[in-house]
Amino acid sequence: MFWEKQIETMPVKELRRLQIRRLKKTLRQAAKSPAYSKIFKEHRVSPEKIKTLGDIRSLPFTTKEDLRENFPYGYITIPLEKIVRLHSSSGTTGRATAVFHSTKDIEGWANLVARSMYMAGVRKGDVFQNMVGYGLFTGGLGFQYGAELLGALTIPSGSGNSKRQIGLMKDFGTTVIHIIPSYALLLWKVFEEIGLDPKKDTKLRIALVGAEPHSEATRQRIEEMYGVDAFNSYGLSEMNGPGVAFECPEKSGMHFWEDDFFVEVIDPKTQKVLPDGEEGELVFTTLNREAMPLIRYRSKDLATIFPEPCRCGRTHRRISRIKGRSDDMFILKGVNIFPLQIDTTLMNIPEVGTNYVVILERVNFEDRMIVRVEVRPEIFKGDLWQLENLQRKIADALRSELLVTPKVELVEPDTLPKSEGKAMRVIDRREM
Ligand code: AMP
Ligand code: ZN
Repeated sequence: MFWEKQIETMPVKELRRLQIRRLKKTLRQAAKSPAYSKIFKEHRVSPEKIKTLGDIRSLPFTTKEDLRENFPYGYITIPLEKIVRLHSSSGTTGRATAVFHSTKDIEGWANLVARSMYMAGVRKGDVFQNMVGYGLFTGGLGFQYGAELLGALTIPSGSGNSKRQIGLMKDFGTTVIHIIPSYALLLWKVFEEIGLDPKKDTKLRIALVGAEPHSEATRQRIEEMYGVDAFNSYGLSEMNGPGVAFECPEKSGMHFWEDDFFVEVIDPKTQKVLPDGEEGELVFTTLNREAMPLIRYRSKDLATIFPEPCRCGRTHRRISRIKGRSDDMFILKGVNIFPLQIDTTLMNIPEVGTNYVVILERVNFEDRMIVRVEVRPEIFKGDLWQLENLQRKIADALRSELLVTPKVELVEPDTLPKSEGKAMRVIDRREM
């Protein structure tokens, strides 16, 4: 059941004591970096003054902009010769940031990934195919090291090359995959094209899906398409990468590993800390990192903490599905819209295919949203009235969810741009 029972089920009081001990150590370590030693001086922070977890609120936040300002080495606390790995964020918003790890950091990270995979049911004897990019992206090497530590046979297949991925799955009897959800939908179509059914023609039993926002409806589709249990995996390169928060078999929220991360939720506007149960921006403090500790790092990811105990017995709290980044939200005709709402609506409509894109335009000073949707092949071959009905059905569903009326365009399967990494679902052409 557990990878590390003692830590995973540690009584909450004990867990908090462990956190405060590690927080103090982290602050002393952070003070060794040029960036934090300066910040601590400016804000008159002395690690010695921090006595309780609540005291962390007296410390300033660390933002992506801070990381960029102190690029590349400003946050490291140990000599360069003790650093063994660099990773970097995908840089979808602005310049990428660099994160450094010592050998001990890499070991700690691998352990968190192994713990997460074990929690989802992965075991020695499983054949694990890691279908994401290796390189600066943390999903490749992060899962590689975690799966090896766990003892699974790992296939480092990397991203893309769908037919080869399917070949590997068949040849080696892959039982577990790690895959980006939008790519899982696309890959299923390739199975269909070559006349295979992943439910019958593979041994898949578990899919670990993450790295981008996706809805419960998308998860269900993946589970049905592949005949697997799909588990949500959340992480960000600034907090190592994968292994920050992960679903347990209860699949109701992701446990975040409180022995290694102190998590707060803040109101992104006022920066006030919110109580558990309220939605806001996740703020992370590393509790067990050596080369590059980060304090109160603002992730921009929006979620809610579920404080209730979980039936699985783990005491580490859970977060909801990530609603998106605060800068993913767009405003159309005065209405706030999150791409996740569109994902939920579309993926709940069975005739909708495996890919879609949202385009925002300004025509004659008026904003409009076009939702271009691939439909299932049999629908496209059907009658025109059937297509018109579907178009109306999608537009109605979106209107009732979003409160604005989009223009829905139905397109043939395989016509929209495909992505092997994180999908770009929204194209905003309004500023141009
Ligand atoms: P990167 O550091 O480039 O790997 O990107 C990390 C970001 O990807 C996070 O801050 C989230 O915005 C997003 N992300 C990662 N995992 C998930 C997930 N399971 N659900 C939603 N968003 C995710
Ligand atoms: Zn649980």
